[in-house]
Amino acid sequence: MHHFHYHGDELYCEDVSLKHIAQTVGTPCYVYSYQTLVRHFRAVDQAFQSIPHLVAFAVKANSNLAILRLLALEGSGADIVSGGELYRALRAGISPKKIVFAGVGKSRPEIEYALKSDILMFNVESSSELRQIDRLAGSLGTRARVALRVNPDIDPKTHPYISTGLKKSKFGIGADRALDEFKLASSLPNIEVVGVHKHIGSQLTDVSPFVEALKKILGLIEQLRASGLDIQYVNIGGGLGITYADEKPPLPQDLASAIAPLVRSLKCRLILEPGRVIAGNAGILLTQVLYTKDTESKRFVIVDAAMNDLLRPSLYDAYHEILHVQRRAETQTRRVDVVGPICESGDFLAKDRTLPDSHPGDLLAVMSAGAYGFTMSSNYNSRPRAPEVLVRGNEMYVIRAREQYEDLVRGEVIPEFLAKLEP
Ligand SMILES: *Cc1c(COP(=O)(O)O)cnc(C)c1O
Repeated sequence: MHHFHYHGDELYCEDVSLKHIAQTVGTPCYVYSYQTLVRHFRAVDQAFQSIPHLVAFAVKANSNLAILRLLALEGSGADIVSGGELYRALRAGISPKKIVFAGVGKSRPEIEYALKSDILMFNVESSSELRQIDRLAGSLGTRARVALRVNPDIDPKTHPYISTGLKKSKFGIGADRALDEFKLASSLPNIEVVGVHKHIGSQLTDVSPFVEALKKILGLIEQLRASGLDIQYVNIGGGLGITYADEKPPLPQDLASAIAPLVRSLKCRLILEPGRVIAGNAGILLTQVLYTKDTESKRFVIVDAAMNDLLRPSLYDAYHEILHVQRRAETQTRRVDVVGPICESGDFLAKDRTLPDSHPGDLLAVMSAGAYGFTMSSNYNSRPRAPEVLVRGNEMYVIRAREQYEDLVRGEVIPEFLAKLEP
């Protein structure tokens, strides 16, 4: 459910017309719906209200300060994967007591920053990382709370690039080694073991991998408790899928019904790390048709957004629905590729898509772009990154300005020996 709808023949975000937004800030631009974000956050949070839990929004899905702030006001914590994301979460006012830090390659400055910020816990992915955190906590005169990320070897049946819980993946600690690693962790003087973490992948459209993985983890928790470890938290990661095309992913309520009883029986506090399910369908990428071009084999619709703005089609062959902001009465459709201006054949937003006829100047809405959209964008081809707009009711707020050319070269320096010569 989201709040992008046609009023008559014109597409709106809540009560603001996308045409108006395009006229105000230009294209390409990201547009997010406040009501949708709040609704999705609450759907997850309320689904688990019968058990003690923390919803830690996965910041990598959408890390704009305004988005993090509105989620913080709803009570959200943050699942972070870098020092930069910690900085953003704190800047947005998310309590460090609600921040969990995952990732296989946390650097020393990142670990120190998190220790000094006194975050809730680290989700640790290897024994060498564990020793490093122990050392750094010791030298700061503190103790680090940790959960170990266990790899339950469950196939989430999603795209291989976003599948993270199989034996061959770089993430987590193999289930067979987990007991030993927990023993090591509990022997380290500056480590306090408080939980078990897992995250098996993203865009899951079935609850069964969640249940299977959780069952494995629960077995482990029983073993750990039997050996005297006080496991207080179980973190099931993120991964709930959304509808991009015709997927029918489980609702947060379905996930809760399947797993809350299992967690309740263990008397653990549950942590969830949803990203996509909260932000994905709460945002779109608004773009304008520049040209159309016919070749022998197909028609190209060339738009002003590109793979640097929205990488998912190029990276994962992902499907994003594309809608005309202005619907027309005549309904002639064509099979087209919607492509951007970047000098790569992989630069497309849609391939072999049947769309109503498009003309230069038409505005298109690339749907379901609120998660892993702007956050994956880049300056490739020296394209300034798009602005981000938040709509609430009939108000629109620019929550990130369009980058300017000066932004592109910020920090770059021409050394004196080159500068003094004349071309
Ligand atoms: C990416 C990620 C998430 C969020 O995944 P979604 O599919 O967006 O819900 C949660 N936890 C970890 C550790 C992640 O890497």
